[in-house]
Amino acid sequence: RKPPSRKGSMADVPKDLFAQIQRLEELFFVPGQKLKEITAHFKDELVKGLSKEGGSIPMNPTWCMGFPTGNETGTYLALDMGGTNLRVCEILLPEEKGEFDIIQSKYRMPEELKSGTADELWAYVADCLQQFIEYHHEGEDLDHLPLGFTFSYPATQEYIDHGILQTWTKGFDISGVEGKDIVPPFQAALAERGLPIKLSALINDTTGTLIASAYTDPEMKIGCIFGTGCNAAYMEDCGSIPKLEHMNLDPSLLMAINCEWGAFDNERVILPRTQYDIIIDKESPRPGQQIFEKMVAGLYLGEIFRLVLLDLHENPDVCIFENIDVSKLKKPYTLDSSFLSAIEEDPFENLTEVEELFQKTLSIDTTKPERELVRRLAELIGTRAARLSSCGVAAICLKKGYKSCHVGADGSVFNKYPHFKARGAQALREILDWPKEVRKDPVDIRAAEDGSGVGAALIAALTLKRVQEGQV
Ligand code: BGC
Ligand code: MG
Repeated sequence: RKPPSRKGSMADVPKDLFAQIQRLEELFFVPGQKLKEITAHFKDELVKGLSKEGGSIPMNPTWCMGFPTGNETGTYLALDMGGTNLRVCEILLPEEKGEFDIIQSKYRMPEELKSGTADELWAYVADCLQQFIEYHHEGEDLDHLPLGFTFSYPATQEYIDHGILQTWTKGFDISGVEGKDIVPPFQAALAERGLPIKLSALINDTTGTLIASAYTDPEMKIGCIFGTGCNAAYMEDCGSIPKLEHMNLDPSLLMAINCEWGAFDNERVILPRTQYDIIIDKESPRPGQQIFEKMVAGLYLGEIFRLVLLDLHENPDVCIFENIDVSKLKKPYTLDSSFLSAIEEDPFENLTEVEELFQKTLSIDTTKPERELVRRLAELIGTRAARLSSCGVAAICLKKGYKSCHVGADGSVFNKYPHFKARGAQALREILDWPKEVRKDPVDIRAAEDGSGVGAALIAALTLKRVQEGQV
């Protein structure tokens, strides 16, 4: 299948730029057949990750046992530490299943923090929690509010209220945290401030998304994040998790598995990586890791785009941004995925919004043919991300034998990147070969409930109930 072409509007593109567009299409378009091969390998890697020997995908047991019943009640704090923001929420789960009450404050994760020290990180996190409590509960005598902490990084867990950070992802590089339990230093920072908070559950954003979505929709089987990072969680039977055999769990019990699929193809055998993907990996704080994530997640889309443009500019055979100062384009990570979203959203024939974006953000004056090229490039990068992401979803469905289900998805790319959903759905059709007569997609990726807030509260509630009942 040929990539969709928009030749009509490219009539005035000079020959060299047009040739470049064709070259980029070949480079970035992943045909359906390749998606199928990737999916088949992805499925094998999911299985390997659950084995005693392990594989490249961590497949982390979460100790989140089963789906919510709808009877979870109470008031909980949720702390959401993602790649971009820090959010503190207080959530009231109603007596009868229905609307939750939620109040929240959002703080930005300062850039310096991401490469600072562990002490600075935990002090900042605890300060935000303290500010929230002082603001909303001034002068109240609180007693150990249960907290669900959404820590959206890969962690090894032997209990639900502990977690050893396996590796930082999403460009974080804080020393002295990897390989250690993150809970004690976090709790020490709370204790120093005399905060009446008890961590009940440490969760991943994908697990939260799965649980929050399943609370309102029993057909939800997978929780995904397509945001700064990319990942998914699903429910596994304990009997299908060989690496937990030594725990002698009832094989029919359900446990959520946080796949950490960003690590798919870390051994670099199947993904169609370009020279730009290779540069991104090499220049990142953790080369060789999160190879899949680096091709599909929001943190990297703008950077892939920037690297391609710079490469074209520096190529003597291609006339792009000629005699223009491109110094701003030379700065790594200056463009985020919202820049690509805006390019794809420009409704005007002359791409006047793209023109403005390039002037404002990069001080680059563009010609119409150049704008045609950057628009096509954004489409190609966004389309590749959506299509490859669908391989992960399809792989879980094949692994579990799900013929039809709902997939709850959250994250900035899923919610804000134009056409991401439609492109992902199209890829699923190509991978899973549904018969043409099927009118409604059997596997349906849809917007999730707030997993890192409500999901964390639900898991905290589920955990407390299990503790009261003396279960694992
Ligand atoms: C992290 C995952 C997380 C995902 C989405 C990845 O970088 O390793 O734990 O679920 O980003 O936030
Ligand atoms: Mg998040």
